[in-house]
Amino acid sequence: MKINIAIDGPSAAGKSTIAKLLAKKLGYVHLDTGAMYRCTALKAKKEGIALDDEAGVCAMLEKTDITLTPEGEVFLDGENVSDAIRTDEISLAASAVSKMKKVREDLVARQQKMAEDKGFIMDGRDIGTVVLKDAEVKIFMTASAEARAMRRYLQNKEKGLPLSNVETIAEEIRQRDYEDTHRANSPLRKADDAVELDTSELTIDEVVAAMMRIVEPAIAGEKQG
Ligand code: C5P
Repeated sequence: MKINIAIDGPSAAGKSTIAKLLAKKLGYVHLDTGAMYRCTALKAKKEGIALDDEAGVCAMLEKTDITLTPEGEVFLDGENVSDAIRTDEISLAASAVSKMKKVREDLVARQQKMAEDKGFIMDGRDIGTVVLKDAEVKIFMTASAEARAMRRYLQNKEKGLPLSNVETIAEEIRQRDYEDTHRANSPLRKADDAVELDTSELTIDEVVAAMMRIVEPAIAGEKQG
């Protein structure tokens, strides 16, 4: 029997990278819920809907198809937007639409339907607390703002993107942390039954190994039961 795994945590903690690797190891499907908020923001921008117009964004969402493929690609109304949703502009816009209660209700319902069967690793901000409250494993992944900023800096350097200094990136990360943890609707918080994993001092391989130590007994327990 398969289980469901919920991974939450602040921006740039490496949730998606780790979830992808873990999914490959386990033969599970990774669902990146942040991509759905990003698609909502991208379409609202394209259609000229203001990012504080909750009714407008919701009406738009009712006529919107968002598909996350098992290979990690993101389709918005049939168009591959996997790269278009990753810009800084869309990160900011996604943060704005993710504060809207009705947007969250719509997307959470879709996420719950996607993970009706077992075998999913879902990452986001409210997976353990709202979307998959009954997930067999819940992990709250954190890292210091400095460690996350350094990883983002190195990632951008590798991709040849324009470079801000590490302290500026850390400041932006602290700002997003503040907004995620202080919003009225589904603020980021660790579920009471989640295991906290601080990855500040760990390499990617070490994080995956730590996750496997948490996940494997749960999968074995499920097989016995
Ligand atoms: O994880 P990512 O950076 O792609 O998320 C984009 C935006 O969507 C962030 O502002 C985040 O707070 C929000 N989000 C959310 N709930 C989720 C996933 C992402 O509010 N489950």
